[in-house]
Amino acid sequence: MTPGDGPLSAGSSGRRPRRVRVEVASLRRRTGERRALVGPVELDEMVVTAAHVPGDRVDVELELVSVPEGVVVEGTLVVDWSGECRRCLGEVRGRSEVAVREIFEVDPTEGETWPLGDEFVDLAPMLHDLALGALPLAPLCSETCAGPDPERFPARPAPDGEAIDTDADAPRDPRWAALDGLVFADDPGSAARDEGATDPGGR
Ligand SMILES: [Zn+2]
Repeated sequence: MTPGDGPLSAGSSGRRPRRVRVEVASLRRRTGERRALVGPVELDEMVVTAAHVPGDRVDVELELVSVPEGVVVEGTLVVDWSGECRRCLGEVRGRSEVAVREIFEVDPTEGETWPLGDEFVDLAPMLHDLALGALPLAPLCSETCAGPDPERFPARPAPDGEAIDTDADAPRDPRWAALDGLVFADDPGSAARDEGATDPGGR
């Protein structure tokens, strides 16, 4: 590859870890030099319990900046993920955008900064870490997802009985008038409603 031309040199697939190698020798010659890194990159498998990244591909919009202590990488990482709804187990898709601001230096501090080579830097481990952290641990297809069988296993309390009594005050269908004479012994409600039409006690 030509240094400077192919910043998105994601390494070969297969068993070896994928790399996102960027040439930095020219960048580091002068403090304040910048280089953009924009586009899709493929990383090692990104999977958590209930979500993964299809194709292990993420989008980056980054800028590498030469600073006295090394290189600062800043910008945005966009992760399109696919997962399983924790309530209905249906498929959920989502997008996470992660703000990136990481420091690469020759002598990195474990857990704080990343290693920087003399000529190249590999952004893959950093991007992989951030992408994994952006995956949801318990996705929901929607905030109101009622689960696989809301009748039997309601995910939330039923609404305030609206469905039960809504027609009590509704205008009566005149065709039902013929039924007014009927009284159901086990339905005191209908007997009360029909008062006047028949005397419930008379039957
Ligand atoms: Zn759901």
